Amino acid sequence: MRTILGEIQQLIKPLFGTQAPVLTFSSSGTGVMEASLANILAPGEKVLALVHGQFGERYAQIARALGAEVDVIESEWGCVPDSQMIAAKLEKASYRAVIAVHNESSTGAVTDLSAIGALLRDRDTLLLVDSVSGLGGMELRQDEWGADIIVTGSQKALMCPPGLGFASVSEKARKVIERDDRCARFYLDMRKALATVDKQETAFTCPVSLLFGLHEALKMIHEEGLSQVFARHRRLSDALRAGCIGLGLPAFGDPTSASSTVVVATVPTPLTGGEIVKHMYENYNTAIAGARNKLSGKVIRIGTMGQINEADILTDLYYLERSLTALGHEVSTPGCGVAAAVAALR
Ligand code: PLP
Repeated sequence: MRTILGEIQQLIKPLFGTQAPVLTFSSSGTGVMEASLANILAPGEKVLALVHGQFGERYAQIARALGAEVDVIESEWGCVPDSQMIAAKLEKASYRAVIAVHNESSTGAVTDLSAIGALLRDRDTLLLVDSVSGLGGMELRQDEWGADIIVTGSQKALMCPPGLGFASVSEKARKVIERDDRCARFYLDMRKALATVDKQETAFTCPVSLLFGLHEALKMIHEEGLSQVFARHRRLSDALRAGCIGLGLPAFGDPTSASSTVVVATVPTPLTGGEIVKHMYENYNTAIAGARNKLSGKVIRIGTMGQINEADILTDLYYLERSLTALGHEVSTPGCGVAAAVAALR
């Protein structure tokens, strides 16, 4: 197990773009989001939350639940936070951390972390990042961009079952984590995890079977090559997005910050996202997602993360066209979604 843990450490660091230790927890993504905050927040400290979707809302809720005073910069869903607004807030108050979502799975918007990191470089404020649905499918350069803690989970672009959470910890974050005993924490105490990581151990019993799976998944990623993996995600998500547009479902949100790991498409009225999801599943055994938030009914979301290929997205588009047609939505010409995706792939 020590050998596997040591190899995982070396294989996973390039996915974070860091030389810093990557801590392993037995939890889903939300657990490590909580861990990132529980380890740095002394009572009364303030957090600046960047909210432009469901997971940004969740990060802010966790900070509040842990007793932080939370200021929020709320941006339109589908867009990303504005750096000038962040800079203005940082001038007015002292924050322990800025909390950001790298890849907002509810809208498909990708935050420019390097711009936020640059604002914090000469301050005590830490940059905490939820990259649960980005890491492994999209480039992260933690050290270069100045992110302090990046958290992720095993079940998205890392292609494993759920149950493992990871958090990378910069030197700057480590000083805050280790400063004193004011943060209430036990199982998620990163001091315990930091004390064991170099010994190739975990602080508590680790989920051995999940780690075996992760070890294999990381080897697959490196065999393909990290830059090739990122390029494949970009190419396939762009093609799927083009296919949805071809079918009359415009891409949701700002196209300049579109995700490579999830495609979010706007559902034309009078259709609802829920009926498309249901039809795809019941008739074609194809699982896509709608929304369980204020976009409910208005969008569908299709994951493009992990081990997927051209055939997967072309098949999705073929079934999507059939579902849309069955539900009464006219497409311009039969096969136009697949054709638009094929053109984009070329
Ligand atoms: N953050 C983002 C961006 C996510 O997409 C998800 C899950 O979909 C989470 C956090 C929560 O992760 P989990 O469901 O593993 O707790």
